[in-house]
Amino acid sequence: MRLRDKVALITGGGSGIGRESALLFASEGAAVVVVDIDGAAAARVAGEVRDAGGRATDFAADVASATACEGMVRHAEESFGALHILFNNAGIMLSADDDAVNTDEAIWDKTMAVNLKGVFLGCKYGIPALRRAGGGSIINTASFVALLGAATPQLAYTASKGGVLALTRELAIVHAREKIRVNALCPGPLRTELLMKFLDTEAKRQRRLVHIPMGRFGEAKEMAQAALYLASDESSFVTGAEFVVDGGITAAYVTPE
Ligand code: NAD
Repeated sequence: MRLRDKVALITGGGSGIGRESALLFASEGAAVVVVDIDGAAAARVAGEVRDAGGRATDFAADVASATACEGMVRHAEESFGALHILFNNAGIMLSADDDAVNTDEAIWDKTMAVNLKGVFLGCKYGIPALRRAGGGSIINTASFVALLGAATPQLAYTASKGGVLALTRELAIVHAREKIRVNALCPGPLRTELLMKFLDTEAKRQRRLVHIPMGRFGEAKEMAQAALYLASDESSFVTGAEFVVDGGITAAYVTPE
Protein backbone atom coordinates (compact mmCIF):
# COMPACT_ATOMS: atom_id res chain seq x y z
CA MET A 1 0.00 0.00 0.00
CA ARG A 2 1.80 3.09 -1.22
CA LEU A 3 -0.68 5.64 0.21
CA ARG A 4 -1.63 3.98 3.47
CA ASP A 5 -3.29 6.42 5.95
CA LYS A 6 -3.19 9.30 3.46
CA VAL A 7 -6.09 11.54 2.47
CA ALA A 8 -6.11 12.74 -1.15
CA LEU A 9 -8.27 15.44 -2.71
CA ILE A 10 -8.53 15.23 -6.51
CA THR A 11 -10.13 18.00 -8.58
CA GLY A 12 -11.58 17.05 -11.94
CA GLY A 13 -12.06 13.66 -10.30
CA GLY A 14 -15.22 12.88 -12.23
CA SER A 15 -13.49 11.93 -15.48
CA GLY A 16 -10.23 11.06 -17.25
CA ILE A 17 -7.00 11.44 -15.25
CA GLY A 18 -8.85 12.44 -12.08
CA ARG A 19 -11.15 9.42 -12.13
CA GLU A 20 -8.31 6.96 -12.77
CA SER A 21 -6.27 8.59 -10.01
CA ALA A 22 -9.15 8.35 -7.54
CA LEU A 23 -9.48 4.61 -8.25
CA LEU A 24 -5.73 4.00 -8.11
CA PHE A 25 -5.00 6.12 -5.02
CA ALA A 26 -7.83 4.40 -3.15
CA SER A 27 -6.55 0.97 -4.15
CA GLU A 28 -3.21 2.02 -2.61
CA GLY A 29 -4.87 2.83 0.71
CA ALA A 30 -5.77 6.53 0.43
CA ALA A 31 -9.11 7.98 1.46
CA VAL A 32 -10.16 10.01 -1.57
CA VAL A 33 -12.18 13.21 -1.93
CA VAL A 34 -13.50 13.31 -5.49
CA VAL A 35 -14.16 16.93 -6.51
CA ASP A 36 -15.76 17.98 -9.77
CA ILE A 37 -17.92 20.79 -11.15
CA ASP A 38 -20.11 17.95 -12.37
CA GLY A 39 -21.41 16.77 -9.01
CA ALA A 40 -23.09 13.69 -10.47
CA ALA A 41 -19.80 12.56 -12.04
CA ALA A 42 -17.96 13.08 -8.75
CA ALA A 43 -20.61 11.04 -6.91
CA ARG A 44 -20.39 8.28 -9.53
CA VAL A 45 -16.62 7.99 -9.17
CA ALA A 46 -16.75 8.05 -5.37
CA GLY A 47 -19.30 5.23 -5.65
CA GLU A 48 -16.96 3.27 -7.94
CA VAL A 49 -14.17 3.64 -5.38
CA ARG A 50 -16.42 2.38 -2.57
CA ASP A 51 -17.67 -0.51 -4.73
CA ALA A 52 -14.04 -1.55 -5.16
CA GLY A 53 -13.61 -1.58 -1.36
CA GLY A 54 -12.00 1.85 -1.02
CA ARG A 55 -12.86 4.95 1.00
CA ALA A 56 -14.21 7.98 -0.87
CA THR A 57 -16.48 10.96 -0.61
CA ASP A 58 -17.57 13.43 -3.30
CA PHE A 59 -17.88 17.19 -3.41
CA ALA A 60 -19.30 19.41 -6.17
CA ALA A 61 -17.09 22.46 -6.69
CA ASP A 62 -16.03 24.88 -9.40
CA VAL A 63 -12.29 25.32 -8.83
CA ALA A 64 -12.55 28.87 -10.19
CA SER A 65 -14.53 29.82 -7.06
CA ALA A 66 -12.72 30.68 -3.83
CA THR A 67 -15.72 29.72 -1.70
CA ALA A 68 -15.93 26.34 -3.42
CA CYS A 69 -12.21 25.65 -2.96
CA GLU A 70 -12.37 26.58 0.69
CA GLY A 71 -15.38 24.26 1.01
CA MET A 72 -13.73 21.27 -0.68
CA VAL A 73 -10.73 21.43 1.66
CA ARG A 74 -12.98 21.77 4.71
CA HIS A 75 -15.00 18.80 3.44
CA ALA A 76 -11.81 16.71 3.17
CA GLU A 77 -10.72 17.48 6.72
CA GLU A 78 -14.22 16.98 8.14
CA SER A 79 -14.67 13.67 6.29
CA PHE A 80 -11.28 12.07 6.91
CA GLY A 81 -9.56 14.16 9.61
CA ALA A 82 -6.70 15.59 7.52
CA LEU A 83 -5.42 16.32 4.02
CA HIS A 84 -2.06 15.02 2.78
CA ILE A 85 -2.32 14.97 -1.03
CA LEU A 86 -3.79 17.77 -3.13
CA PHE A 87 -4.13 16.93 -6.82
CA ASN A 88 -5.10 20.14 -8.65
CA ASN A 89 -6.09 18.42 -11.86
CA ALA A 90 -9.31 20.04 -13.15
CA GLY A 91 -8.85 21.71 -16.51
CA ILE A 92 -10.71 22.77 -19.62
CA MET A 93 -9.77 23.11 -23.28
CA LEU A 94 -12.35 25.23 -25.10
CA SER A 95 -12.97 24.63 -28.79
CA ALA A 96 -13.02 28.38 -29.54
CA ASP A 97 -9.50 28.76 -28.11
CA ASP A 98 -7.34 29.78 -31.05
CA ASP A 99 -4.57 32.26 -31.89
CA ALA A 100 -4.31 35.78 -30.48
CA VAL A 101 -6.41 37.35 -33.23
CA ASN A 102 -9.24 34.85 -33.13
CA THR A 103 -9.54 34.07 -29.42
CA ASP A 104 -12.31 36.01 -27.68
CA GLU A 105 -11.44 37.67 -24.41
CA ALA A 106 -14.16 35.63 -22.70
CA ILE A 107 -12.50 32.37 -23.80
CA TRP A 108 -9.16 33.61 -22.45
CA ASP A 109 -10.72 34.63 -19.12
CA LYS A 110 -12.66 31.38 -18.66
CA THR A 111 -9.62 29.23 -19.46
CA MET A 112 -7.40 31.17 -17.06
CA ALA A 113 -10.06 31.09 -14.34
CA VAL A 114 -10.29 27.30 -14.33
CA ASN A 115 -6.82 26.14 -15.40
CA LEU A 116 -4.65 28.69 -13.60
CA LYS A 117 -6.67 30.48 -10.91
CA GLY A 118 -8.16 27.09 -10.00
CA VAL A 119 -4.70 25.79 -9.13
CA PHE A 120 -3.90 28.96 -7.16
CA LEU A 121 -7.14 28.66 -5.16
CA GLY A 122 -6.59 24.95 -4.53
CA CYS A 123 -3.19 25.84 -3.06
CA LYS A 124 -4.48 28.89 -1.20
CA TYR A 125 -6.91 26.77 0.81
CA GLY A 126 -5.09 23.43 0.58
CA ILE A 127 -1.68 24.50 1.89
CA PRO A 128 -2.94 25.44 5.39
CA ALA A 129 -4.52 21.96 5.58
CA LEU A 130 -1.28 20.27 4.49
CA ARG A 131 0.53 22.31 7.16
CA ARG A 132 -1.95 21.07 9.77
CA ALA A 133 -1.16 17.51 8.61
CA GLY A 134 2.57 18.10 9.06
CA GLY A 135 3.34 18.23 5.32
CA GLY A 136 2.19 16.66 2.10
CA SER A 137 2.30 16.51 -1.66
CA ILE A 138 0.70 18.85 -4.18
CA ILE A 139 0.44 17.78 -7.81
CA ASN A 140 -0.64 20.34 -10.39
CA THR A 141 -1.64 19.11 -13.83
CA ALA A 142 0.08 21.19 -16.50
CA SER A 143 0.70 19.82 -20.01
CA PHE A 144 3.44 19.18 -22.56
CA VAL A 145 2.10 22.29 -24.37
CA ALA A 146 3.64 24.35 -21.56
CA LEU A 147 7.02 23.19 -22.91
CA LEU A 148 6.52 23.14 -26.69
CA GLY A 149 4.73 25.41 -29.15
CA ALA A 150 2.23 24.06 -31.69
CA ALA A 151 1.11 25.27 -35.10
CA THR A 152 -2.48 24.47 -34.15
CA PRO A 153 -2.93 27.20 -31.56
CA GLN A 154 -4.82 27.05 -28.28
CA LEU A 155 -3.28 30.20 -26.93
CA ALA A 156 -5.23 30.55 -23.70
CA TYR A 157 -4.84 26.86 -22.80
CA THR A 158 -1.10 26.92 -23.52
CA ALA A 159 -0.55 30.12 -21.54
CA SER A 160 -2.60 28.80 -18.60
CA LYS A 161 -0.47 25.65 -18.44
CA GLY A 162 2.75 27.70 -18.66
CA GLY A 163 1.43 29.62 -15.66
CA VAL A 164 0.85 26.34 -13.80
CA LEU A 165 4.51 25.42 -14.28
CA ALA A 166 5.79 28.80 -13.04
CA LEU A 167 3.45 28.75 -10.05
CA THR A 168 4.46 25.16 -9.20
CA ARG A 169 8.16 26.03 -9.20
CA GLU A 170 7.72 28.98 -6.85
CA LEU A 171 5.39 27.15 -4.46
CA ALA A 172 7.88 24.27 -4.30
CA ILE A 173 10.62 26.62 -3.14
CA VAL A 174 8.47 28.62 -0.72
CA HIS A 175 7.11 25.53 1.06
CA ALA A 176 10.11 23.17 0.83
CA ARG A 177 11.06 23.53 4.50
CA GLU A 178 7.47 22.81 5.58
CA LYS A 179 7.66 19.29 4.13
CA ILE A 180 5.21 20.29 1.40
CA ARG A 181 6.34 19.12 -2.01
CA VAL A 182 4.84 20.69 -5.13
CA ASN A 183 5.27 19.14 -8.57
CA ALA A 184 3.71 19.56 -11.99
CA LEU A 185 2.53 16.64 -14.07
CA CYS A 186 2.97 17.33 -17.80
CA PRO A 187 0.92 14.79 -19.76
CA GLY A 188 1.28 14.32 -23.49
CA PRO A 189 -1.85 14.03 -25.67
CA LEU A 190 -4.27 11.55 -24.12
CA ARG A 191 -7.21 9.55 -25.36
CA THR A 192 -9.56 11.30 -22.91
CA GLU A 193 -12.77 13.18 -23.55
CA LEU A 194 -11.02 16.54 -23.18
CA LEU A 195 -8.70 16.05 -26.17
CA MET A 196 -10.90 13.81 -28.30
CA LYS A 197 -13.62 16.51 -28.24
CA PHE A 198 -11.05 19.01 -29.48
CA LEU A 199 -9.57 16.66 -32.12
CA ASP A 200 -13.01 15.79 -33.44
CA THR A 201 -12.06 14.30 -36.82
CA GLU A 202 -9.79 11.39 -37.74
CA ALA A 203 -7.65 13.80 -39.80
CA LYS A 204 -7.05 16.05 -36.77
CA ARG A 205 -6.14 13.02 -34.65
CA GLN A 206 -3.68 11.72 -37.25
CA ARG A 207 -2.11 15.18 -37.54
CA ARG A 208 -1.36 15.02 -33.79
CA LEU A 209 -0.23 11.37 -33.76
CA VAL A 210 2.55 12.10 -36.27
CA HIS A 211 4.40 13.95 -33.49
CA ILE A 212 4.25 11.19 -30.90
CA PRO A 213 7.24 8.82 -31.17
CA MET A 214 5.21 5.98 -29.65
CA GLY A 215 2.57 6.49 -32.35
CA ARG A 216 -0.40 6.44 -29.99
CA PHE A 217 -2.25 8.65 -27.53
CA GLY A 218 -1.54 8.17 -23.83
CA GLU A 219 -4.11 6.75 -21.44
CA ALA A 220 -5.50 8.45 -18.34
CA LYS A 221 -4.40 5.35 -16.39
CA GLU A 222 -0.79 6.02 -17.33
CA MET A 223 -1.07 9.54 -15.87
CA ALA A 224 -2.59 8.16 -12.68
CA GLN A 225 0.48 5.93 -12.24
CA ALA A 226 2.75 8.97 -12.57
CA ALA A 227 0.60 10.97 -10.15
CA LEU A 228 0.75 8.08 -7.68
CA TYR A 229 4.54 8.30 -7.64
CA LEU A 230 4.40 12.06 -6.99
CA ALA A 231 1.74 11.59 -4.31
CA SER A 232 3.60 8.85 -2.45
CA ASP A 233 6.64 9.09 -0.20
CA GLU A 234 8.64 7.34 -2.93
CA SER A 235 9.13 10.80 -4.43
CA SER A 236 10.26 12.27 -1.09
CA PHE A 237 13.20 14.21 -2.66
CA VAL A 238 11.22 15.40 -5.70
CA THR A 239 9.88 18.94 -5.64
CA GLY A 240 9.51 21.72 -8.21
CA ALA A 241 9.71 19.13 -10.97
CA GLU A 242 8.11 19.20 -14.39
CA PHE A 243 7.25 15.51 -14.55
CA VAL A 244 6.84 14.86 -18.26
CA VAL A 245 4.85 11.76 -19.26
CA ASP A 246 4.36 12.21 -22.98
CA GLY A 247 5.28 9.15 -25.06
CA GLY A 248 8.52 10.92 -26.05
CA ILE A 249 7.07 14.03 -27.74
CA THR A 250 9.27 16.58 -25.99
CA ALA A 251 12.37 14.48 -26.72
CA ALA A 252 11.66 14.16 -30.44
CA TYR A 253 13.02 16.10 -33.39
CA VAL A 254 11.96 13.59 -36.05
CA THR A 255 9.61 10.73 -35.17
CA PRO A 256 9.74 7.16 -36.57
CA GLU A 257 7.94 6.56 -39.93
P1 NAD B 1 -11.49 15.29 -18.69
O1 NAD B 1 -12.27 16.28 -19.46
O2 NAD B 1 -11.69 13.83 -18.92
O3 NAD B 1 -11.66 15.58 -17.12
C1 NAD B 1 -11.63 16.86 -16.59
C2 NAD B 1 -12.62 16.93 -15.43
O4 NAD B 1 -12.54 18.26 -14.87
C3 NAD B 1 -14.09 16.74 -15.85
O5 NAD B 1 -14.71 15.79 -15.01
C4 NAD B 1 -14.70 18.12 -15.67
O6 NAD B 1 -16.07 18.10 -15.29
C5 NAD B 1 -13.83 18.70 -14.56
N1 NAD B 1 -13.86 20.16 -14.53
C6 NAD B 1 -13.89 21.01 -15.60
N2 NAD B 1 -13.96 22.28 -15.17
C7 NAD B 1 -13.99 22.24 -13.81
C8 NAD B 1 -14.08 23.23 -12.80
N3 NAD B 1 -14.17 24.53 -13.10
N4 NAD B 1 -14.08 22.84 -11.49
C9 NAD B 1 -14.01 21.52 -11.17
N5 NAD B 1 -13.93 20.54 -12.10
C10 NAD B 1 -13.93 20.89 -13.40
O7 NAD B 1 -9.96 15.69 -18.95
P2 NAD B 1 -8.54 15.04 -18.59
O8 NAD B 1 -7.88 14.73 -19.86
O9 NAD B 1 -8.67 14.01 -17.55
O10 NAD B 1 -7.85 16.36 -18.02
C11 NAD B 1 -7.36 16.47 -16.72
C12 NAD B 1 -6.22 17.48 -16.73
O11 NAD B 1 -5.18 17.03 -17.60
C13 NAD B 1 -6.62 18.86 -17.23
O12 NAD B 1 -6.00 19.85 -16.42
C14 NAD B 1 -6.05 18.89 -18.63
O13 NAD B 1 -5.78 20.20 -19.06
C15 NAD B 1 -4.79 18.08 -18.46
N6 NAD B 1 -4.22 17.53 -19.67
C16 NAD B 1 -4.96 16.73 -20.50
C17 NAD B 1 -4.36 16.24 -21.65
C18 NAD B 1 -5.13 15.38 -22.62
O14 NAD B 1 -4.64 15.13 -23.71
N7 NAD B 1 -6.31 14.92 -22.28
C19 NAD B 1 -3.03 16.54 -21.96
C20 NAD B 1 -2.31 17.34 -21.10
C21 NAD B 1 -2.92 17.83 -19.95
